Amino acid sequence: FRVPEPQNEPVYSYAPGTPERAKLKEALANARAQEVDIPLYIGDREVRTGTKRAIRPPHDHHHILGYYHEGDASHVQEAIEAALTAKPRWEALPWEERAAIFLKAAELIAGPYRYKINAATMLGQSKNAYQAEIDSACELIDFLRFNVSYMAKIYDIQPNSSPGVWNRLEQRPLEGFVFALTPFNFTAIAGNLPTSAAMMGNVVVWKPSENQVYAAQVIMDVLKEAGLPGGVINLINVDGPVAGDVVFSHPDFAGIHFTGSTAVFQTIWKTIGNSIATYKSYPRIVGETGGKDFILAHPSADVEAVSTALVRGAFEYQGQKCSAASRAYLPASLWAAIREKVVQDLSTIQMGPVEDFGNFVNAVISERSFDKLARYIDQARNDEGVEIVAGGSYDKTVGYFIQPTVLRVDDPQYVTMCEELFGPVLTVYVYDDDEYEAMLDIIDKTSIYALTGSILSRDRYAIELATTRLRNAAGNFYINDKPTGAVVGQQPFGGARGSGTNDKAGSELNLLRWVSARTIKETF
Ligand code: GLU
Repeated sequence: FRVPEPQNEPVYSYAPGTPERAKLKEALANARAQEVDIPLYIGDREVRTGTKRAIRPPHDHHHILGYYHEGDASHVQEAIEAALTAKPRWEALPWEERAAIFLKAAELIAGPYRYKINAATMLGQSKNAYQAEIDSACELIDFLRFNVSYMAKIYDIQPNSSPGVWNRLEQRPLEGFVFALTPFNFTAIAGNLPTSAAMMGNVVVWKPSENQVYAAQVIMDVLKEAGLPGGVINLINVDGPVAGDVVFSHPDFAGIHFTGSTAVFQTIWKTIGNSIATYKSYPRIVGETGGKDFILAHPSADVEAVSTALVRGAFEYQGQKCSAASRAYLPASLWAAIREKVVQDLSTIQMGPVEDFGNFVNAVISERSFDKLARYIDQARNDEGVEIVAGGSYDKTVGYFIQPTVLRVDDPQYVTMCEELFGPVLTVYVYDDDEYEAMLDIIDKTSIYALTGSILSRDRYAIELATTRLRNAAGNFYINDKPTGAVVGQQPFGGARGSGTNDKAGSELNLLRWVSARTIKETF
């Protein structure tokens, strides 16, 4: 079988006057008008537990969009049983039948569900229309289509045979169930983590972030409409540690597909380690975790290009991308010009609710995140050797709004140069032009995380030097660009060190983690 050649989904601009903009506005109005009531999806059932939690837009937290039903340990147990019940028929289904379901899901998101999934992402996660279009509609469509093509390639990998002998490689699904634990920041990741494992014949228990349940439900509805049989992916809205207790002590736990914080991932890894003798097989542990992503400019860099990379890389989606630029190393000879341009750009950027499409910056995800960011900003205001170059104010009266903030520090190891803040705060260190090589050492040494990074330069020797010296400091390395916005099928995404297991999302490498090969030798 050949699968359709995947193409990246074209991105709508939602420019004023376009029909797409009108349709998205209508979807937003509908979402505001109807209260959602989100169940758990266990097997064929929609489960309403009666323990209801409110869903509120982060940019308008007095408003209630609806409720989700929260489950407890018994629902996690039921979800695992439903998954294991669905397993024999699902894994026996020829792979091209499974492929058809996920290809249809991609078509549904590209068509009838596009505005709904974008509206849910915009309202539930406070993400502007363009960012939602990129990350909820288009990137999820791309994940589904490209992963199907990678799946086909994986089933095609076969060993050599010799006269009288036929060798085969059989890609078996994992023995047990996979647990998908997904983040709030990318609807596409929330969709990718359960579906990539399910595609390879696995059954899945999926726990989305409590800040992303709204869009998660839309994904579930799409999958059901595409014909995904009940029990293959079970959506449980349950407190994380409660779910973890049941999942990680279960003998059929076969793997985790995770995106989230480094601290949570390390706790999970330890828990799995402590229970290792419980499981039938060594579980697959696949995780993308934190980032402290850098932009390094060489004195030869173009000021305009550096400024754009800084503003877009640091402040799109309020800096809440694992890939967001949060520390920059800029040469003294360019600093005044870059500073002027960045301050000027930021002064034209609007901040506010997602319903006004002119707002580039919206709210951060939660009060907890807001308070944490406010604390770092307050500390910066009081600390010696830190200058607030732009922004620095915040207000949570209506929504969790933090002004895009640029700090300049005297110490390249200042706290905001090293710790992950996950918000719209960029810290800049200005270096003497002749210290470029020393900067490479500092960046490498302080890269506890190693997800993304950029070098901006017009000098090829400087580019080569950074590419070589920073080899282990980023899993996605950008030359003359911002460090965000990896495209499925073009820049497989992930990093090592504290940033994860680097099993590149949107590539064969990731899908290979969800199968366990059997070699069959037949002698004639
Ligand atoms: N893949 C996204 C990007 O390249 C980041 C994903 C994340 O934040 O986890 O910007």
